Amino acid sequence: MKKNSESILEAYALLLGAKTINELKEKAHKFKGKTVLHVNATKYGGGVAEILQNMIPLMNELGIEGSWEVFTAPESFFDISKKMHNALQGNMEIFFSDKEVNDYIEQAKSTYDQIRPDSDFNIIHDPQPCPLINFAEDKKGKWIWRCHIDTANPNPQAWGMISDYLSLYDALVFTKMEYARKKSHNLIYQIPPSIDPFSVKNKDIPEVQAQKIVEKFVPLDLPLVTQVSRFDPWKDPLGVIDAYRIVKEKHPIRLVLIGSLAHDDPEGVEWLEKVKDYAKNDPDIIILSNLDGVGDIEVNAFQRLSQVILQKSIKEGFGLTVTEGMWKKIPVIGGNVGGIKLQIDDGENGFLVDTIEETAEKITYILKNPDKAREIGEAGHLKIKNEFLLIKHVERYLDLFDMLTK
Ligand code: UDP
Repeated sequence: MKKNSESILEAYALLLGAKTINELKEKAHKFKGKTVLHVNATKYGGGVAEILQNMIPLMNELGIEGSWEVFTAPESFFDISKKMHNALQGNMEIFFSDKEVNDYIEQAKSTYDQIRPDSDFNIIHDPQPCPLINFAEDKKGKWIWRCHIDTANPNPQAWGMISDYLSLYDALVFTKMEYARKKSHNLIYQIPPSIDPFSVKNKDIPEVQAQKIVEKFVPLDLPLVTQVSRFDPWKDPLGVIDAYRIVKEKHPIRLVLIGSLAHDDPEGVEWLEKVKDYAKNDPDIIILSNLDGVGDIEVNAFQRLSQVILQKSIKEGFGLTVTEGMWKKIPVIGGNVGGIKLQIDDGENGFLVDTIEETAEKITYILKNPDKAREIGEAGHLKIKNEFLLIKHVERYLDLFDMLTK
């Protein structure tokens, strides 16, 4: 089942059966030759970039002309857009000055001028480029705003800064319906994200190869408990360390925190330092980032060799790291929030937790019950196979295109 030696669709046919793939090809037929443009803020780091790099080739193989553009902006813009991200996720203490509001809109004008979207379907991801639609003089094709964050309870000022622009879009897509605001009057649609099972991050790799990769960073003499996440307060890395410390009192384990520093995430470096300070040079807390050479294949190997995957988020639009862990049949313990709840059915294919103590308790349970851990891992894999692979994601977009062109 290798992507290199055969087409992506053939690989999916082997994984899911020819019938599923033929049905998808039929749906895609109507859109052969149509152009689909994705616009977002970064080529690297975070879930959106992860999805887009794999989705475009799959759409292309279905005969749809996919493309992906990233805009450039001064560093100061990403401070505003990260603030926006946090405010839309519910941080009520954030306030934007008139200058920040103005800079946010001005950047959108520049973004429009850089990209000038004119595809049949223009998919604008997340708040960073959202207002660019306002500058489209001759609005061609259909325009979709694709929101990846949990906007169920947004900061009113931040929502106010985008809501006028949202009404200009033909459709708004959220990971969960409950993230949409009731006042929106355009088409609202639910599309959860997905993973590519054949990507370097997720493909099967032999255990020996995974061991060799991981041993470059960490000895394998203790069970590994791993969280792969941007260094970010919503991902609660300090809570993860607290949970590890409770478990560590009775069980020898090693905690691995892997976090990339994304280009559009100015908080990353500051939080990496915070996490390092909090770990207090504990030799069994291993903190790694892309700067240490931890890329996709390394993340894959670490996830596969972990006894437990954590994603102890306080807010989480979806949580691809949860999907990745479950796909690899590793028991995942996730925060009982947002998109993690779409994926984990508590006690059946993973665990949902609300507190540090509960996280520690579930880690201990998994370490002490390997048979149950295997069962949960298998159930997790099945859930992802049925609902959250990229092929399903593309199919959901095709259904949306169909609704928009009827
Ligand atoms: N990721 C990675 N290296 C890291 C941290 C994250 O490759 O050091 C990847 C992770 O495997 C996942 C994505 O970045 O594919 C994060 O997506 P998620 O939805 O979990 O969180 P987001 O960053 O979008 O909030």
